[in-house]
Amino acid sequence: MVVILKPKTTEEDVQKMISYVKDMGLDVMVNTGVDCTVLGLLGDTSRIDPDTLMLNCHVDRVMRIAEPFKKASRKFHPEDSVYEIGDSKIGVEKTFTIIAGPCSVESEGQILEVAEDVKKSGAKLLRGGAFKPRTSPYSFQGLELEGIRLLKEAKEKTGLPIVTEIMSPYMVESFVENVDVIQVGARNMQNFDLLKELGKCKKPILLKRGLSSTIEEWLMSAEYILAGGNPNVILCERGIRTFETYTRNTLDLSAIPAVKRLSHLPVIVDPSHSAGMSWMVEPLSLAAMAVGADGIIVEVHNCPEKALCDGAQSLNPKQFDSLMKKLKGVGKSLGIEV
Ligand code: PEP
Ligand code: MN
Repeated sequence: MVVILKPKTTEEDVQKMISYVKDMGLDVMVNTGVDCTVLGLLGDTSRIDPDTLMLNCHVDRVMRIAEPFKKASRKFHPEDSVYEIGDSKIGVEKTFTIIAGPCSVESEGQILEVAEDVKKSGAKLLRGGAFKPRTSPYSFQGLELEGIRLLKEAKEKTGLPIVTEIMSPYMVESFVENVDVIQVGARNMQNFDLLKELGKCKKPILLKRGLSSTIEEWLMSAEYILAGGNPNVILCERGIRTFETYTRNTLDLSAIPAVKRLSHLPVIVDPSHSAGMSWMVEPLSLAAMAVGADGIIVEVHNCPEKALCDGAQSLNPKQFDSLMKKLKGVGKSLGIEV
């Protein structure tokens, strides 16, 4: 962190500022210029609030040099993080992992049928919501624990590891016991009590980007989990709120290369929630591959017209199979394994 003092700050006031900073446990490098003095603060500045330093009447500007996310940063962890889950290695270069399944688990027949179908087409993990964060309290809220039981049954039948969303910090223990990847939905990206609790376990956490979150806020949420002691975080770009209303959300494709540069964590794309329309899933999935995502999480339903949640953005198994063929073909030409 760099603190630029105002021109004409007296030597006495510079010294007072240096002692103030040293009292916070930091070292100071002093650079005396012609017009002003610049202080370089050395040490762990992550707890220092630049705005508090600005309260000093001699401070002109404060600039952070390092990102506030230390554990998520590529600077301190240059190699990609890779997690082995079932048959897949998420985060390995030139590999594109497909997670697929319904928005919500609705019945035994539905989840077993979809699980078999997506497995046959080449998905490596099965998704399915059991606890659903719905805008309306009158909408289907999910089968809850029964949904998790059905997901486990589908895993037994297909061998596909299961990914499902958690909403409450009180459920962490049960999720750790029963599921392979714990999803934190967009609406809970900044549920800090939940993130802290997930930091205490070692399960891979699929952390979706918040509805209106910046890339830095998203990485700071990942930092909560990492700082708690859980090194297994997968990021998921699922579209953000913009002024555009044609699509459900706006897929921020630029976030993928940005996150890849800033962080060592794997990042996947959700082409279903991004646009909210099934016909856009294929082009957005191909785009995700082109910009370097580590995979996608796609909604697939055996009968989208009758889905209890997110039918309009769900592919049917035949459409999913055709998407997989496209991705495999394009992947082959790019040297990417799907
Ligand atoms: C979901 O995956 O079904 C979901 C609710 O996603 P998001 O949190 O991205 O809206
Ligand atoms: Mn959904």
